[in-house]
Amino acid sequence: MSDIFDPLDPRRVQPGEYPLWEEALALVDLAATLPDREPLRLLALPSWDEGRSEDVYVAMANGEWQGNCLEPGWPDSPAHPVAAVADAAQETVSELLWQAWPVCGEHGIGMHPHEADGQVGWWCAGGNSPREPAHVPAAIGALDTLARPHRPNRKRRRHER
Ligand SMILES: [Zn+2]
Repeated sequence: MSDIFDPLDPRRVQPGEYPLWEEALALVDLAATLPDREPLRLLALPSWDEGRSEDVYVAMANGEWQGNCLEPGWPDSPAHPVAAVADAAQETVSELLWQAWPVCGEHGIGMHPHEADGQVGWWCAGGNSPREPAHVPAAIGALDTLARPHRPNRKRRRHER
């Protein structure tokens, strides 16, 4: 009847196709918090939207993703692609791994991308006490600077490849 029912055929986005989203994805450093995971990647699928040929998603290394595609045509601000990609990455990672991600090292709860003054950071709702208000523990590209919960019994073996 129609091509529309053909199986979807995800395509790996090649370098240079969506430079703003690629740069933003490079900032969303999954390995900084989940060192066993391969980097996220951009996948393109034929679009349901007649205005464009394909939709781009943020996927795990194995090609799985959750949530909505990245919306092109955001306001002309350098922060917007970062916020959009971080949001999509969070949805994919937290839904597919069944865990909050990324997690505030101080409060142990999931954080969300938040934009203020042209900067995008990971926003944490804070603690229950008024002395622990909402805060932005890390810029989107700085998850490796987050305070980590102490894990005295777990040795890091970073030198192994
Ligand atoms: Zn926090």
